[in-house]
Amino acid sequence: MPLAQIRGQAASIDLISRALQSNQLPSAWMFVGPPSVGKRLTAQLIAQTLNCKIYQGIDACGQCDPCRQIEVGNFADVELIEPSGQNIRMEQIQEALRWMQYRPERGHYRVLILDEADRMNRESANAFLKTLEEPPPQTTIILLTTSPMLLLETILSRCQQIRFQPLSPEILTDLLAEKTDLANDERNWLMKQGMGSIRLDLVKDVQGLRELQSQWGLWIQQIGASEMIEILPRCQEWSSAKDLTWERLLDWLETWLRDLAWLLHELPETELLNQDQLPALRKCLQRYSSESVLALYEAVLEVRHNIARNANKTLQLEGLWLRLKHLQEA
Ligand SMILES: [Zn+2]
Repeated sequence: MPLAQIRGQAASIDLISRALQSNQLPSAWMFVGPPSVGKRLTAQLIAQTLNCKIYQGIDACGQCDPCRQIEVGNFADVELIEPSGQNIRMEQIQEALRWMQYRPERGHYRVLILDEADRMNRESANAFLKTLEEPPPQTTIILLTTSPMLLLETILSRCQQIRFQPLSPEILTDLLAEKTDLANDERNWLMKQGMGSIRLDLVKDVQGLRELQSQWGLWIQQIGASEMIEILPRCQEWSSAKDLTWERLLDWLETWLRDLAWLLHELPETELLNQDQLPALRKCLQRYSSESVLALYEAVLEVRHNIARNANKTLQLEGLWLRLKHLQEA
């Protein structure tokens, strides 16, 4: 696939293409932007361009052995590191740094891709710094991140940053039509769930998640004691579910609060993310002030932050529902 076919990132792709064509690569790139908007695919295409056997100065062919092997993640001179569990561990970084010291095969380029680079702890990041400063010849490093503010300043300053944008509703709709066989209504729902990212991870269980969301929508309209009796025992189930229900709940709450803020400011209802739940949103609107909506939004961020630092998920979710209830009463 040619780099130019990455959708919705024209300015960034143009910068990258020019660097590749003029052979003026930075020692490290950092792709910054929301999840699932093309950062990892772009890194893979760069690796192909640098290693393609019949590269003509525009794009990788996509057909030769290196191109095919890179596409399936099985090429000796391209390495992808991603968090193992919560973090990118020190051993992973040390291993990658050793790997970078070997010369690539003749004519090849070693490409190290570090996905979710912000999940390096300080120790790993420091180990990485020196290589980032002076990478071995014929190597390039590409860091991918959604949260550059979590990275050390010394790492940031050694990379050329390239911004990736959220995708427009039109592009998301097209991509979902190409990559899934969802019906129009479901595709439209999934497009809104992504808020600018393509959520292919949710395709498998669109129906289940919609049902869960409408249950959450029912509960949140008016949280009394009887609702809490139903909700609290479910928190543990959501926390331990393999499909990351706890994260789906936090994502959904963010869209819900965004919609409440939208309605509070009398913005057009046609643009709501949870348009299919408009009656529930309207009821909810009577119970939260704009201060409460803001406080809840911050509470969701705090819960995410705490869970990322290994806090007990069940307790965090229970606390969040209690807060939702408390702010309705306030
Ligand atoms: Zn090729």
